[in-house]
Amino acid sequence: MIYFDSAASTCPKKEVLDVFLSASQDEYANPSSSHAFGRSGGRLLESARKQTLDLFGVSATHQAIFLSGATEANNLALKGIAFSYQNRGKKILVSAVEHPSVLEPARYLAKAFGFEVVELPVDSYGRVSPETLQAHMDKDVILVSIMGVNNETGTINDLKALSQITHRYPKCFFHSDLTQAIGKVEIDFSCLDLFSFSGHKIHGLKGVGALIYKKNIRFVPVLHGGGQEFGYRSSTVALPLALSLSKALELSLASAKNNLAHVKSLRETLLQGLENEEIRVNSPLDEAGSPYVLSLSLLRHKASVIMEGLSEEGIYVSTSSACSASLEKPSYVLLSMGVDEDSAKNAIRVSFSEDNTLGEVRLFLSSFHRLLKEIHAR
Ligand code: PMP
Repeated sequence: MIYFDSAASTCPKKEVLDVFLSASQDEYANPSSSHAFGRSGGRLLESARKQTLDLFGVSATHQAIFLSGATEANNLALKGIAFSYQNRGKKILVSAVEHPSVLEPARYLAKAFGFEVVELPVDSYGRVSPETLQAHMDKDVILVSIMGVNNETGTINDLKALSQITHRYPKCFFHSDLTQAIGKVEIDFSCLDLFSFSGHKIHGLKGVGALIYKKNIRFVPVLHGGGQEFGYRSSTVALPLALSLSKALELSLASAKNNLAHVKSLRETLLQGLENEEIRVNSPLDEAGSPYVLSLSLLRHKASVIMEGLSEEGIYVSTSSACSASLEKPSYVLLSMGVDEDSAKNAIRVSFSEDNTLGEVRLFLSSFHRLLKEIHAR
């Protein structure tokens, strides 16, 4: 098997599984229970929270909530802030190429609650420029949400510049969905008021993620119940998952630099091997693009046919993103970047992890060339 779909999900690391298994076996009490067994779990939960904040370098300023993943974190960030601060203003800015877990809550707030939501246009790389953000800012904006790295193209936003513009408006918060960014690009986490991520994108487990937020922020919760996680996320905290998340984060951040150099070489080799094929490279190849994600449009072939052909050989890639793969629609991310409709319908996404090898890239290339030739000859 050759797995080039790590933007959809990654293989959990053994250390992460070990942490999950031992906590599941040994610390199964409810971490909110007030007996000694529960208190022991509660202490472990707080140590995972502290480690998570320490790893991001924000323990003095930020707090962390463990929840089910980036989708839930993004929902809490958008709805929780909107409902809590609507007396300040009712305008929210998001980029037009956000993941649906940001776009859909924003659209829901507009449709059901009368918020004014602006989907900011992006440049041909898929970035929100500081000038674009500045042009849409005003005193009614309470939240700006712009992703760190795009899941379909790997495009990197300049979060420092964008957050600086946002912070000229003291009543506005800056949120970033960092699901595809953690451990892959360098980020100054302290410039973000809130950020979200998921364990399974960083070789952790599915079903866990976190929302990190400045301590002065107050949310209206999305889930109401027993009042766990500071009242913002009711439901018994999944201690083994929380511990597994901080372990995955530790490993991911520790190896980020070495991994980047390796993954860059994978992308370079892949691109060299594709030089003579009729493809369009949609991802930025300079410093505006993360080498972990490469979007390619096939100019003469259907992406779904190639993806299926590769899949039959045990080589796994996605068409645009895994979340929208079943829809035979052009990618809204690529359309927003000005890519033509045919190319936006026929994109494949190759996404790497540090576990991939140059040998796998070469095998991919030989299957890819052969498949194109075979389909061409039909
Ligand atoms: N944001 C981005 C950028 C993503 O790539 C994903 C996963 N495809 C999510 C949010 C949602 O993550 P999850 O499915 O783990 O909730």
